[in-house]
Amino acid sequence: MAADIYAESFMSWWASADDRDRKLYEDVLGYEDKYFKDMTLRADSILRDFLYLEVADENGIFQPAALDGPMMASSIANWYYRFKVVDLPKGTQGRISIEDRVIEISPECCESPSVIMHEMIHAYEHALEEVAPFFRDILLFCLHKDLSEKIKDLYSLILRQSHALRAEDVYMEGGSHGVLFFLKSLDIDIRMGLRLGTTFGYGADSEDAPQA
Ligand SMILES: [Zn+2]
Repeated sequence: MAADIYAESFMSWWASADDRDRKLYEDVLGYEDKYFKDMTLRADSILRDFLYLEVADENGIFQPAALDGPMMASSIANWYYRFKVVDLPKGTQGRISIEDRVIEISPECCESPSVIMHEMIHAYEHALEEVAPFFRDILLFCLHKDLSEKIKDLYSLILRQSHALRAEDVYMEGGSHGVLFFLKSLDIDIRMGLRLGTTFGYGADSEDAPQA
């Protein structure tokens, strides 16, 4: 689907969206601003060292400048995602169709930041692949650096979640949830005061999971 088709679909969805759908969209934009400065490649995030530079002013004095303007391309709004609160198959709290640009959340979870932000991580991962794939490794590196100062045994936690056997089970059940996805989900857990593994789901928050 071309971008203008997505824009049209978004407009007609917004015109007919009910109060719950609109509130969900507004919540999403709020979460983006607060929790996804890194995945939208903003200079006021953990990526700052990779996005700031110094530019000489008219007096030849170097001033700090940020490169984040054009990089905001991964923002949810720019991808015309539509958000719907709908009944989903039993056991499914939320799901995303990247092809159709739709994120659906079950009515029981429409006030659950961790369920909503789980689907948002998928959307940003896809957007970054499209607009700035060279930033994926930088994001992974910066998230790891930041989290390793906050979580005692981050390596064990990653290993537990991303070992071939476990990663394959999660993939078969719910699609791609790689190391970058896991690290970003941990970042959200910490900042929201949630048990580690909550945003990731798939049992990652089980009793025996290591905590910060
Ligand atoms: Zn998922």
